[in-house]
Amino acid sequence: MTIISNKLTSHVVVGVGKASDLRTYLPATLDSHLVNQAILQAKQTAFTGKLGEAVTLHLAKDKGFITLILVGVCGHTGTVNAFRELGAFVADYCKNFKPEAVSFCIHGVISTDLSDEMQTTQFLFGFSQAVYNLENDQNVHINLPMPKEVHILGGSKTLVNFLQNNLLPILKGSEFSRMLANTPPNLMMPEHFLKHCKDELEPLGVTVSCLDHNDLESEQMNLLLAVGKGSVHKPKLIVLEWKNNKKSNPIALVGKGLMFDSGGYCVKPGAGQYSMKLDMTGAASIAGAMKTIALQNIDLPIVAVIAAAENSIHSDAYCPDDILHAHSGHTVEIIDTDAEGRLALADALSYTVKYFDPRCIIDAATLTYAAIVIMGSYYIPFCSNNDQLAADLEEAGRISGDLAWRAPFAPQEYLESHIADLKNVGKVFYPHVKGSSGHACGSGIGATFLQNFIPEDTPWAHLDLIGASVEWKNGSLRAYRHSHSGENVALLVTYLQGVATKE
Ligand SMILES: [Zn+2]
Repeated sequence: MTIISNKLTSHVVVGVGKASDLRTYLPATLDSHLVNQAILQAKQTAFTGKLGEAVTLHLAKDKGFITLILVGVCGHTGTVNAFRELGAFVADYCKNFKPEAVSFCIHGVISTDLSDEMQTTQFLFGFSQAVYNLENDQNVHINLPMPKEVHILGGSKTLVNFLQNNLLPILKGSEFSRMLANTPPNLMMPEHFLKHCKDELEPLGVTVSCLDHNDLESEQMNLLLAVGKGSVHKPKLIVLEWKNNKKSNPIALVGKGLMFDSGGYCVKPGAGQYSMKLDMTGAASIAGAMKTIALQNIDLPIVAVIAAAENSIHSDAYCPDDILHAHSGHTVEIIDTDAEGRLALADALSYTVKYFDPRCIIDAATLTYAAIVIMGSYYIPFCSNNDQLAADLEEAGRISGDLAWRAPFAPQEYLESHIADLKNVGKVFYPHVKGSSGHACGSGIGATFLQNFIPEDTPWAHLDLIGASVEWKNGSLRAYRHSHSGENVALLVTYLQGVATKE
């Protein structure tokens, strides 16, 4: 998709607040002959301009037709999510047209505090999310049927440049991230993830390297090795480097890449296993962000470290009661083999600290379902040991639309073990509650566990992102449940852009 300028194409989408005032919403580039046809035709429909309504008109020109799609915006709340929903609704409505080029006239017609840039960005983000899924719901191969050209009617040159230089690279990163996360697990194991990173990122100037099973053994990364021990697809630590020229300490992104999570011996029930291909969404989001970073040529040394493994069952797999020796030297008592993401991440974090000495670390993981309990799908909850980093991430959330909210850590004593330095899940508080694992502060406990592997003076944030990454939302985006939404890429990239600008 390319955002060209403000040309009137054969398919035009116009936001309308009140059908009786249609003339005021129509783009100035429509000549009076076409405007009169539109008003006449619209009167013969039941279209009023209410949110959720849309109507297609065919306007005759000298040569051919213009397909004019009127979309109701009366009742639109003007929030980021409402703009994404509207974009998804339009995509859904347009699915039968599949236009090669489309012109939008949406910004400026809805009462909102958001800038024109933000309105259009969020609308097009929702549009691209929905178009993607409509086409690829049933398919293994991802091939986006986005319109080749998008025009913003009434859009200034600044707006078009902004979308071209900022939104498009983010959409491309999100698209890569979604492909990685949504590909079925039989086709996306650690070795496949590595190959996709090489194919996609190396040509853009990202250095891709990898620690295989033997390297992980000599490095004593026993937590990551244990997590992947039950799978024939051996774990890997995948390292992506951008402008890491040793002149200054890099920013590190560390991702949980559980290609499939059965729960291991603490096996998940059948229904809970469905969609566990998405347990590598943290890693996929980071790989997607690296693509955007390269496309935007962000002037900052960045290292991404991805712990890639499959948590499966085998006579050799790790068990509850095991004591494992982490790469950092800590001993960990395994209580629950389904709390494997923090183990894989812990080794990745201590490896990152040891070899890259980062100035700051952000890890991204679908670590706990409790993240959805805290903030649903509208905010990414995160914990951080640093106030400035936390404030910058929340600000990046506001700018990008991928909203993030700082949450508290759980107390360290919840993780005390009698026979090791740590246990891998928290204290049991309410075992009597039917259907509950009984572990309190799930998301905060995961963060506190990871904090043990971070030096006190290294600014660090842990994003627990399953709620925002996987679409659970209502409305037009509802159809995309059980697939990665492509969110998080914009948050990470916007934060990094902010750092680069300050340098
Ligand atoms: Zn798990």
